[in-house]
Amino acid sequence: MAAALIDGTALARRLNGELKAKVEVLATTGIVPCLAVVLVGDDPASHTYVRSKSRAARAVGIATVEHRLDAQLAEAELLALIERLNRDPETDGILIQLPLPKHIDVTNVLKAVHPAKDVDGFHPTNVGERVTGAGGIIPCTPMGAMFLIETVRANIEGLDAIVIGMSNIVGKPMADLLLSAGCTVTVAHIKTVGLPAICRRADIVVVAVGKPGLVRAEWIKPGAIVIDVGINRITSSDGEKRLVGDVAFEEAAGVAGAITPVPGGVGPMTIACLLLNTFEAAISRRAASIRAG
Ligand code: NAD
Repeated sequence: MAAALIDGTALARRLNGELKAKVEVLATTGIVPCLAVVLVGDDPASHTYVRSKSRAARAVGIATVEHRLDAQLAEAELLALIERLNRDPETDGILIQLPLPKHIDVTNVLKAVHPAKDVDGFHPTNVGERVTGAGGIIPCTPMGAMFLIETVRANIEGLDAIVIGMSNIVGKPMADLLLSAGCTVTVAHIKTVGLPAICRRADIVVVAVGKPGLVRAEWIKPGAIVIDVGINRITSSDGEKRLVGDVAFEEAAGVAGAITPVPGGVGPMTIACLLLNTFEAAISRRAASIRAG
């Protein structure tokens, strides 16, 4: 393996440690940041993610309240719960675990979360503020990916970057963050023609598709930074179940300059950034009471 391994677990551990110290200081003012986690239905992967997020939050001193709801829940009931959480003075952040069941309109739901408590950064207000450079809460996965890129190269101005995948939650905000950092950005998607050749021009490759082994060694420019966001559960030929990303890791690692593993790359950083966003949301929303105290 020629590439340096970008260790998301280690970086997340360091960020979580720093955050824990800040949460302890905040606790001396009587404030404990609180994250409400809303999970609708029984998707096993979502349950696993929610457990990991709650465990990580508690480990840094952030309180969590989980709302596990029936898959048949009416959209109106979910909106009513969000409204209660929006008004609840003890709730600093609201996370709606995606995907939602098909009968619920995800856009309606994400729009219902108060922008100040939208720790996933999905509300149109936060999206608009981010895109226009007016602030806005940054979505956790792209934020984590940027931290990982920075560990390899602090200044990425002028580099060619490609983001493969254009979802609202990963691809588009990722492209925007790379653009803000001074990269020349290509966004590729399922309709892109000639993707391997386009990808091979990029100094930074971020893949968020959900297709194991999509990105091959010959797609990668020698020395490129490769960030694999994909999470795919596969069963290998020996019957063993495991997690892999969207990049054919072993072969890509022979060409890239630095690469994230799956698991242990972007995943832990997504959670670390969620906790950072929750802490910041608590500070911003409760600034007046902190000053008064
Ligand atoms: P999505 O399904 O919403 O979007 C997938 C994107 O990939 C689409 O824009 C589509 O056009 C593009 N695409 C599909 N096939 C393609 C192909 N052959 N070539 C090029 N582009 C193609 O997915 P998402 O929610 O953005 O998630 C993408 C992946 O990232 C999934 O594996 C998901 O599990 C993972 N993910 C990981 C984290 C994390 O913390 N590591 C967070 C969110 C999502």
